[in-house]
Order: sequence, then C-alpha cells, then structure tokens
Amino acid sequence: MYSVGIDVGSVAAKAVVFDGEGIIAKEIIPTGWSPKETGEKLFNMITSMAGIEKREIKSIVGTGYGRVALSFIDKKVTEITCHGKGAHFIDPNIRTVIDIGGQDSKVIKLDEKGNIVDFLMNDKCAAGTGRFLQVMAHALEIDVSELSQIGEGAVPETISSMCTVFAESEVISLMASGASKESIAAGLLQSVCSKTYTLVSKVGVQEKVFFSGGVSKNSLLRKFLSNKLGVEVFSSELSQYLGAIGAAVIGYRE
Ligand code: ADP
Repeated sequence: MYSVGIDVGSVAAKAVVFDGEGIIAKEIIPTGWSPKETGEKLFNMITSMAGIEKREIKSIVGTGYGRVALSFIDKKVTEITCHGKGAHFIDPNIRTVIDIGGQDSKVIKLDEKGNIVDFLMNDKCAAGTGRFLQVMAHALEIDVSELSQIGEGAVPETISSMCTVFAESEVISLMASGASKESIAAGLLQSVCSKTYTLVSKVGVQEKVFFSGGVSKNSLLRKFLSNKLGVEVFSSELSQYLGAIGAAVIGYRE
C-alpha cells in the first residue's frame, strides 16, 4: 500500500508517494491561479509516475495554504506538523527546521520523536521570504535561482530597507550608482539571512539544523545562515518536499 502527500504552496505545489519505507515518486509544479485544479492535476501526475492504482492508496493527505481547496483528499494537516514529521523522516537528529517558502518563513523546534516543541512563523511580511528574492531578482534582471551563484564571493552591499517595496527601490538606486549585481545579490541574501536570524533567535537554535522550502536551494544563503548561527545548517535534495513528505508519512502511519 501507498500514501500520497500533497503540499499546495503559494508558489509551488509538491507531491510525493510513500511506500512505508521511502519516497518512490516526487513531483513539483507551479501552483498557478487554482490550487484545486493544480492539486488534482498533480495527484494524477504523481500516481501515474509511480505506476500505482487508486485502490492501492491507503491515504491522501494535503497540506500547505491551498489544502483547503482540495476535495479529493482524506485529511488536511497543518504545514507546521507536516514539516516536523517530514524532517524527522529525513533525519531523526533534526531539532530545528528553518523553512523559507514563497510567502512565509518559519522556524520549528522538534523533539527526538519529531513532535513540535515550539515554532514561530512570519506570514505577515514578504521580507525574508522567497517572494522578496523573486522581486529583487526581477529588478536585477536575473532568475531567482542565479542569486546564489552571482553573489558568491562578492562583498555584500548593505540593503537597509526592511520592506520589500522600499528594498526594491534601494536595489534600483544601488544599480544606478554603479554597484555590481554580484554585491547587490550578496547583500540581498544577507538581508534575508538577518531576518531569518531574528526569527531563529526567538525560538532558539538547537542542532541539528535543517533548511527547507524552495529558498533552501540557495546555497549561499545557507552558508550565510551557518556563519551567522555558528552551527552547520544542512539541506537536502528533498528540502522543498518536506511538507509533502510529512503529509505522506502521517497518512501512511494513521
Ligand atoms: P511555497 O510552499 O510557499 O509555494 P516553496 O517552499 O515551494 O514555497 O518555495 C518557493 C520559493 O522558492 C520561490 O518563491 C523562490 O523564491 C524559491 N526558489 C525556487 N527555486 C529556487 C532556486 N533554484 N534557488 C533559490 N530559490 C528558489
């Protein structure tokens, strides 16, 4: 038997198939304007990718901001719980999860069983989220996936505005004054790093620290976070799937 976890986020919808031991299929597509249609499309994609029949699926669990729109699922579980279970599945030694997604960032503290001990979420302000980096990458005329490589080794410019709209103006002014894309990219990642540091500090950092969400693909940001927190921050190829993995694990075990 199998379980399916679907995480419909603000930017990307992720799904995985779990066979009780490992993840046998994973897929990610843009959420687009309809979380409902995207969720259904993704479910059909992932089941045919895994080569499984609907009767072989014991549970479908949905999470993420779009979970409320999914009518075909068996259960809806909050992102915090799913991230906790997902992290524990990836590595039971994880005690702190830093998740930066498209429109929010969160820090989750776990115990040795993967239960939530504490958490803090910023979903009020775009600064420090993937959205902030997408807006800034657009201003720099690069893709968000290039920020890390471009900023590597550069001396970071100081981006002092805490607001995404003002920070974008600041970036445009910096470019006009001749600052390099490299130093601005590094400065933007430092800005996200310090916002994240403030959030982590309120919950407290306990090793092992795991970085999840789409923004965790940014390896320079992960390096900045490791330096600022004074501990190694880990990530994995499955980082963006953490919520979907947690959902699938919860569905399978229940
Ligand atoms: P959500 O669950 O809110 O949809 P995700 O955790 O899927 O968010 O992350 C989406 C964010 O990940 C995007 O806003 C983007 O900024 C970031 N992202 C996606 N791919 C990359 C990449 N290759 N490098 C850096 N950031 C990325």
